[in-house]
Amino acid sequence: MFDVIIIGGGIGGSASALRTAQNGLNALWILGSKKNRKRSRSQWVMNLDNIVGFHEDIIKNQIIKTLKRNKQDDAIPFVEKEHYHINNRMLIQNTIQRIETGFSNVTIMDGEVLQLAKTDFGFSLELGDEIFEGNSIVLSTGVMDEQPHILKQNKKGEWEESPKWIYPFANREQVLYCIRCEGHLTTDDSAAVIGHSNVAAEISMMLYERYGNQVSILTNGVTPDISANRLSILKKYNVKIISEPIKGLISEGVKQLHGFEFELHDPLKVKFALVSLGLHRVYNNLARQLNARLMDENQPEEKRHVWINHKSETSIDGLFAVGDMTKREDEPMMKQVYTAQEYAVRAVDTIDFRRRKNIRNNLLI
Ligand SMILES: Cc1cc2nc3c(=O)[nH]c(=O)nc-3n(C[C@H](O)[C@H](O)[C@H](O)COP(=O)(O)OP(=O)(O)OC[C@H]3O[C@@H](n4cnc5c(N)ncnc54)[C@H](O)[C@@H]3O)c2cc1C
Repeated sequence: MFDVIIIGGGIGGSASALRTAQNGLNALWILGSKKNRKRSRSQWVMNLDNIVGFHEDIIKNQIIKTLKRNKQDDAIPFVEKEHYHINNRMLIQNTIQRIETGFSNVTIMDGEVLQLAKTDFGFSLELGDEIFEGNSIVLSTGVMDEQPHILKQNKKGEWEESPKWIYPFANREQVLYCIRCEGHLTTDDSAAVIGHSNVAAEISMMLYERYGNQVSILTNGVTPDISANRLSILKKYNVKIISEPIKGLISEGVKQLHGFEFELHDPLKVKFALVSLGLHRVYNNLARQLNARLMDENQPEEKRHVWINHKSETSIDGLFAVGDMTKREDEPMMKQVYTAQEYAVRAVDTIDFRRRKNIRNNLLI
């Protein structure tokens, strides 16, 4: 029986596991399978630069200090020239390494959890052929963004409709997904928002107001569903709406995106595109198996966030959820590295508090 079982090897899972390790809880951390890791945000984020403290200069300055102290001044220009980016995968890998080398109270396993059940003492789950039991569970199984399907000619000259065409540019931070995290990269440049809803309109307005972008909305063949008020503001901001399907990308191989092509409309030259198509999925199956309360009543089940309170606890006692899969009623949704971490700390500290309270109560019996 573990004190806590953490499901999900992304940022929320890592923050939960580290806090669990440091609080001395007896824990199992399940990282996910190769397949579900690939579709998670932990693999998608290439460079974190909106968080205080996550910056390459911190590393560079320390290396340079060491080089100077050891009279290795010739090496300093090499360090200065290097780009030490920090991404989600590195944070997770580093957490695994820290736990494996520094803490024996946390067991780490690979694999996808398919079944989660409530028992008299807590929870039980199946992983491969084994059954594990825990007093509490922390879920951090994440979400997946909807991707634009773009028609483009493949190497054989055949037209192929697929989201895969934009992936190389997403890896190079030219196709973006998170305005809070990456919006600043577009400052004073041109950007296309791929979307058709009021949210796409809001993102376009924000790009103009914050970063002075020249913005176009590409609905990729979908009829725009944008309120009259927003349409008036978009007009004042000179935001063009192109409703034709995208038919090809303008690019230098897969190195640099230069814009989009259409059948009838003139090609659009832009340096950045921001995808605003909502969520493809919230990975909420395990919470649903326990009938945990979900938010977003008007959405299909697989797109609904898991309701949590200020302690990151779901409607089921002892079942906690953190990170992108969650939503609170009392604050706007924040799908960020630092919010996943904050929610994780609240969950694990609550579990720890309850465990210690139980120990004391038992002593008094
Ligand atoms: C392109 C992009 C750029 C971003 N940039 C930034 C940024 O610069 N700064 C910032 O603060 N935020 C950024 N974000 C947001 C940030 O990446 C997310 O908020 C964060 O990764 C959420 O962590 P999570 O733990 O909720 O989910 P994820 O990191 O997606 O992790 C989910 C984990 O759950 C596992 N899993 C799923 N199902 C199961 C199962 N059944 N059993 C076991 N394991 C399972 C997966 O394998 C995966 O390891 C960005 C997001 C995107 C898409």
